Amino acid sequence: MKDMRHLFPEWSAHMEAFLRSFSLVNAEINIHLTVKVDQHTVQYAFGAKVKKKLKLFSPVPLKLDVTCNTQPAIYGKERCWCLGGHPVCGSRLHVSIPPHAMDQGLFGDLSIQFVTLLSPCVLQYPNLATHISNIQLMVFNPSRVPVLKVPRFFQTLPAFLDFEDLGVDTLHCSSKDVQQLCGTSTYTSEPPSCSGPQQETSAVWQRVLVFLFLQLTDPFTSQLTDVMATEVLIERHLEDILNNNRHAMTVALQSELRNTLKAHNCRKKIKEKLNSAAEVILSSSISIVSCSSNLDFRRDCLNRMKVRDTQELSAAFGESLRRVTSWKCVPRHSCYSAKVRGMFAYRHVSGLVLICCHFHFSTDERTFRV
Ligand SMILES: [Zn+2]
Repeated sequence: MKDMRHLFPEWSAHMEAFLRSFSLVNAEINIHLTVKVDQHTVQYAFGAKVKKKLKLFSPVPLKLDVTCNTQPAIYGKERCWCLGGHPVCGSRLHVSIPPHAMDQGLFGDLSIQFVTLLSPCVLQYPNLATHISNIQLMVFNPSRVPVLKVPRFFQTLPAFLDFEDLGVDTLHCSSKDVQQLCGTSTYTSEPPSCSGPQQETSAVWQRVLVFLFLQLTDPFTSQLTDVMATEVLIERHLEDILNNNRHAMTVALQSELRNTLKAHNCRKKIKEKLNSAAEVILSSSISIVSCSSNLDFRRDCLNRMKVRDTQELSAAFGESLRRVTSWKCVPRHSCYSAKVRGMFAYRHVSGLVLICCHFHFSTDERTFRV
């Protein structure tokens, strides 16, 4: 019992990680588990708020938990936010079984079905800057139970991926996050090196989840005991199976990630154009305020923006402009949209609107005076 108490925290963390991973791909199951060891009691409860059904090659449809609990860090009043995700069913890769695994009784048609999920969903905010913080690969056996031992194959995988082609910074395999989700390999990105102030304050960090579902078709395996024995064999030889199909695996994964990140890269290009336009609007507006001979107008602008001089006005106006353009909402029917309230309020939005109004007025005024 002493040993059990000693191991309890670690064991509990592993149990939680396992159940969380299992629950992700078995969203139709609500899990309630209470474990008591001596005076320690731990309760686990997992249930999906938002589910998505996908038809795979398997006759049993996949029900994914696509609930997204991540909300924007900087947000104004109540806004629409997608509380789910939109998984993409990718390709199915047939893999060969190494001869020594066949010698031990592993036969049949083995394949890996890819499913990807980019979260949180920002489809309703086409101007919002995004940054890919990490990519997680999760492997499940044919019964959709997470593979407990993460193959070493995935630790070396980043060296074989073309990150320039994917449009993301080089990712590194992170060992500290392995226990967060059982059977998961996490590749973490560094913070953006040349981030502007707008990226620091309003960029949404997204995660790419790649589910790898092992599937085996063997007409000679029908009994439950045989199915279980076969799955044990698959997990035992998974490292060799992956290494045996390294090139095909890398090409397939590169393709899946490229498709998933396509929208992210398009968004980056649009955002660059928007930033250029914002710079022109900002400099024009500030020069109008600075050059105005109307003291009341200038004082009113500074007061409304709660700043002391035009230097502070430029910074405040720039921040407000970026937030207003970034958070322009385009509702989407496919999104699991709900009203949420963020952590911080817009301080300068009312001032921004005022200056834009004055922009036209003061232009006329200047023209009149000239
Ligand atoms: Zn959505």
